[in-house]
Amino acid sequence: MIAPIKKDSISLRVAVTDRCQLRCLYCMPPGGLTLCNHHDILSYEEIITFVSNLQYNYNVDKVRITGGDPLVRKNIEQLIQKLHDINIPDIGITTNGQLLGKKAQVLKDSELKRVNVSLDSLSDSTFKKLTRCGTLAHTLNGIEKAKAVGLQPIKLNTVVLKGINDNEVADILNYALENELTPRFLELMPVGTLSYDFDKHFFSTSDTIKLLTDDFELSPIKKETGSNCASYHAKNKNGKKGIVGFISPYSHPFCNGCRRLRLSSNGHISGCLALNNRTYVRELLKPSPTASRDLKSCIEQAMSLKRASKEFTIPESMVSIGG
Ligand code: SAM
Ligand code: SF4
Repeated sequence: MIAPIKKDSISLRVAVTDRCQLRCLYCMPPGGLTLCNHHDILSYEEIITFVSNLQYNYNVDKVRITGGDPLVRKNIEQLIQKLHDINIPDIGITTNGQLLGKKAQVLKDSELKRVNVSLDSLSDSTFKKLTRCGTLAHTLNGIEKAKAVGLQPIKLNTVVLKGINDNEVADILNYALENELTPRFLELMPVGTLSYDFDKHFFSTSDTIKLLTDDFELSPIKKETGSNCASYHAKNKNGKKGIVGFISPYSHPFCNGCRRLRLSSNGHISGCLALNNRTYVRELLKPSPTASRDLKSCIEQAMSLKRASKEFTIPESMVSIGG
């Protein structure tokens, strides 16, 4: 068979599990969500079949592994190694970092390149309040280990919440610059458990930047097409320099040129994080004469469904679609 001419690139997020050991205020209720049955979760083989099909028709420039927390899934390094073996050029993971200290070396050995660690607070008590059951020291230890084994870049994700951690943005940026990490401040999205208290806790990127301008020199960097992040060169009072990003899905949606596709842990795809629109594709991962063609048409359909305005129609957690 002649391979098609691939002109479009796709950046894929794969949620490998809906399980997580934390219960972040904005993501999960205290008692957790109703979980999928284990047999409904895609196997690594099915995920690789999906990615291979995608790769046949598109340039898959990145695969980011997420969840739930991807490090709670057994042998996640085996999936990373398989993605590397099928020549995915850029493989990353997004984690709360609680297990990163234990897993950093094995992840590095499996050819993982980059890691994004969620870090919403540097205060033990606020971290505990925000995650309900996390330990700050474990995440900080995970970041140190990731750095020590050479995972690069290490990005920090901080969701800024009014009245909870907005007083910490300068501390987090200083911590990141001093430790050669790349911080990104995210706006809260009206998705998940805080969507009903959204106005009380929403804190805009422009307000975050205002809080930083006394302590840091910030100068904007030209945005790449399709990027969801506005980046700035930052310099602190000790002269430490780095790059800081701001992700503003609510105040400045980044949908133009978005080439992201999401695969959920139970086999649904979606082209847009904000829309309650997904297609079940697990059945198309079994061998059949038409499966590959049908999967391609589902992918095209999903990629054509991006939100047209600032709307968010997903009330449930990002865990169900892959954050
Ligand atoms: N458990 C991993 C973690 O926390 O990094 C990966 C999954 S989590 C759903 C991915 C990212 O989504 C995290 O950085 C988290 O802070 C973010 N997130 C979850 N719910 C959010 C919301 N309602 N608004 C903004 N970001 C959210
Ligand atoms: Fe777990 Fe990540 Fe959701 Fe927090 S944001 S509850 S760490 S999946």
